[in-house]
Amino acid sequence: MNILVINCGSSSLKYQLINMNNEEVIAKGLVERIGMEGSVVKHRTTGKEEVLIEEPMKDHKKALELVLNALVDSNYGAIKSMDEIGAVGHRVVHGGEKFANSVLIDDEVMEALNECIDLAPLHNPPNIMGIEACKALMPNTPMVGVFDTAFHQTIPMANYIYPLPYELYEKYGIRKYGFHGTSHKYVSLKAAEILNKDIEKINVITCHLGNGASVCAIQGGKSVDTSMGFTPLEGLAMGTRSGNIDPAIIPFIMEKENLTVDEVNELLNKKSGVLGISGISSDFRDLEEAAAEGHERAQLALDVFCNRVKKYIGAYVTMMCHVDALVFTAGIGENSVFVRKKICDGLECIGIEIDEELNDIRGKEAIVSKDTSPVAILVIPTNEELMIARDTLEIINK
Ligand code: ADP
Repeated sequence: MNILVINCGSSSLKYQLINMNNEEVIAKGLVERIGMEGSVVKHRTTGKEEVLIEEPMKDHKKALELVLNALVDSNYGAIKSMDEIGAVGHRVVHGGEKFANSVLIDDEVMEALNECIDLAPLHNPPNIMGIEACKALMPNTPMVGVFDTAFHQTIPMANYIYPLPYELYEKYGIRKYGFHGTSHKYVSLKAAEILNKDIEKINVITCHLGNGASVCAIQGGKSVDTSMGFTPLEGLAMGTRSGNIDPAIIPFIMEKENLTVDEVNELLNKKSGVLGISGISSDFRDLEEAAAEGHERAQLALDVFCNRVKKYIGAYVTMMCHVDALVFTAGIGENSVFVRKKICDGLECIGIEIDEELNDIRGKEAIVSKDTSPVAILVIPTNEELMIARDTLEIINK
C-alpha cells in the first residue's frame, strides 16, 4: 500500500508518497509560497527529473490539488490514479494532553485539534488546513494524525509540571509537552535495531540537533523527559531560539528596550540562540568556518550550544542511572563531526567515549563510540516521514 505523508506549514507543504511494501519513497516534493506571489510545486518522482509547477495557489487546497495532479501525471507522476493512495498521514505539531498516540481522523478528532490551537497558534492552524484540504479532495481515503507531542505523553508528572501556581496547569494546560517526538521515537527504535537490543530493555538519550533542537531521555522505549517544554522555546540554545534563560530577563528587557509581548517573543524565537550570540549566522556550517578563522563570538556560540547539550546528557544519565545509547540526529547531529566531538569530550566520566576516526562521517548511520565505551554513540539520520507512514499504516490496519 502507498501512503501519502503530509506536513503543512503556514505557506508551505511537504509531501512524500511511500510504498509501504518496501518502505521506499516513490515521490516527494515541496510546495512553497502558498497564498503568495510566486507559488511553486517542486516535485520529484524517484528515478525521474525534478519538475517545477509554477501556478497561483490561493490556499492549501489548491496546493494539494496540484500535488495530487503531479502524483498522477502521465509524464512525471508516480501512480496511475488516486486509488493507489491507501491512506494519508498528517504531521500535527500539537496534540495537547488529548493525544498520546497517533489517531484516525474523524469529526471528533477535528474538534479536539481545534481545541489545541491555543497551544500552538502558529503551527496547528496550517496542519488543520492541510487535513481539511485532503478531506475535501480525497473524501474516502482514511487519514491519520501523527503528533509531535504524542511520544512525550509518557513523561511523568513530576517531570512535566512547572513550579508555577498549579491552577495555571488546570486552567490553561501550562506544562511541558515536548516536541520532535516523531524523530526521537524513530531514532531510538533504529538505535535498538542497530544494537540488536529490545527497545523495552534499554535506555537511550536522543539528541535531535537541527535549527530547532531537543534532547530526550527514553527509558524502555518511553519518553521520560525532554528539553523542550510548553513551547519549542525551552531547553537548548538553538539556531535562533534562546532556550533556557532566567525568566526575569524577559520583563527586564521589555522595560529597558520598551518591547511589546510580540517583540519580545520575536527576540527570543528569531534573534537569539547561536545567531544572537555570534551576530553572524544561525547555520552551524557558517559558525564552524568563522570559528576556525578566529571569530570569537562564533566560537562562543558553538561553546554555549555544546555545553547545553552536555548538561542535558549529564542530567538524563543520572536520572536514568544507566544509559545504553546516545544518538545524534537532524542537520547538525547527522553532519557536524565537530559538534558531536565537542559534546562528547569530557563525558568519559559518565561512560561516553567517542572515537575520533569513526566520528568522521556525515549524514549516514554509524556507531561512532570506542569499543571500550560503556555507552554506544550512534549517528542516525532521522526519518519523520517514514515514522508517520508506519504509524498511519498501523492505525488503519487496526
Ligand atoms: P530543521 O529541520 O529544524 O529546519 P535541520 O535538521 O535540517 O533543521 O538542520 C539544519 C541545520 O543543520 C542547519 O542550520 C545547519 O546548521 C546544520 N547543518 C547542516 N549540514 C551541516 C554540516 N555539514 N555541518 C554542520 N552543520 C550542518
